[in-house]
Amino acid sequence: MRPLVSAEIIAVGTEMLTPFRIDTNSLFLSARLNEIGIEVLRKSIVGDRMDDLVTTVANACFRSDVVIITGGLGPTADDLTREAVAAALNLRLREDPEILEGLKKRFAKRASGAMPENNRRQAQVLDGAVVLANPNGSAPGLWIDRGEKAVILLPGPPREMEPMFETHVGPKLARRTGARRLQRRVIKIAGQAESLIDEIASPIYVPFLKAAVPIETTVLAHPGQVELHLSAAGDDQKAIAAALAAAVESLTSAIGESVFSTDGRSIESVVGDALKARALTIGVAESCTGGLVAGRLTDVPGSSAYVRGGVMAYSNGVKSGTLGVPAELIAQHGAVSEPVALAMAEGVRRTLGADVGVAVTGIAGPDGGTPEKPVGTVWFAVAGPEGDTETYKRVVPGDRQVVRAWAVMVALDLVRRALR
Ligand code: ATP
Ligand code: MG
Repeated sequence: MRPLVSAEIIAVGTEMLTPFRIDTNSLFLSARLNEIGIEVLRKSIVGDRMDDLVTTVANACFRSDVVIITGGLGPTADDLTREAVAAALNLRLREDPEILEGLKKRFAKRASGAMPENNRRQAQVLDGAVVLANPNGSAPGLWIDRGEKAVILLPGPPREMEPMFETHVGPKLARRTGARRLQRRVIKIAGQAESLIDEIASPIYVPFLKAAVPIETTVLAHPGQVELHLSAAGDDQKAIAAALAAAVESLTSAIGESVFSTDGRSIESVVGDALKARALTIGVAESCTGGLVAGRLTDVPGSSAYVRGGVMAYSNGVKSGTLGVPAELIAQHGAVSEPVALAMAEGVRRTLGADVGVAVTGIAGPDGGTPEKPVGTVWFAVAGPEGDTETYKRVVPGDRQVVRAWAVMVALDLVRRALR
């Protein structure tokens, strides 16, 4: 058979045409499809309207080798995907007794007991389709072979769709693509401006495009974090891996200390791993970030091994009362100052009985700035296990959200650097 090379993704659901929901399934799916050498030619978002769905599905099947449709497999009347695909491909729908049995069992396990009659629709199967089990929901997926092409229906909720793709769809598609695979490496950099990183990196990565294994580089910026995404595709996986490793190495050594990860890990994971490796615990004292640093640290599964806790010390009263920052220090230097940040870090370390204390105090804005301390001024401090301390000031341009997001990154990065 001719290998599968092209794909289209269709997201079904009127809610994604409103300002309140976005289609994220297609991001996950394009990443996975690219990895196995399939190029995504087009993505569409279609409301729950039969005529739109039928034409979109029919066109996509005409153009592309693989069509993946997510959403609209639920039990309600506005879930039209099965019927639309049946109409577009001229296939019959039939009730599958095994799926029906499974649905009934699923409902019997619940407190509510009997299956509502409208769930019966989820037992409808397109003629000739392979049923894909959904361990996390009621709607099974469907795989339909159309000559050399394939049409795949998956449920909309990402937590149902993603595991189904990983177990059933990805491996099956990969067996029908050629040897071509795409590999990706990501270099993550903390606390640097995108323009500065690109100035250092672009003379290095631009020539990668013309190398024996051509590598494409994209620069992605988030507040406080810049990422270099390197990707290369081809048949020789060993050569690609080696070329990417060499590229990562040369970029990383040019950029230096601010690179915190080349293996996909987030900064909170890197910090967590460093704490675990040295069997240290951490406590967080936050003013302007209001708990966001502690939130990020505890995003990591297993972080209870090293996170002692946090104090959200927004008011001066809490800074003095809970963290023991002397009131005179605040009166003399202001809450956003080096001595107060340091006293907060030492205070939280002592109060929570942690090995490492980290503190953030700043002016997120829009109000509260002064000529000496403009909006965006943030002081950071780390108090380490041997009485060692570090302080750092940063003036971040941007609105309240940006200042806070930057501050979280810089605080976590300061801990990372202190732990080296
Ligand atoms: P269900 O049985 O849960 O109804 P379904 O296949 O009918 O499954 P939808 O009703 O279309 O799925 O979507 C359910 C929810 O899944 C949506 O409200 C939305 O939150 C999420 N969802 C659907 N499609 C997408 C998408 N493309 N990207 C991200 N989330 C999505
Ligand atoms: Mg639904």
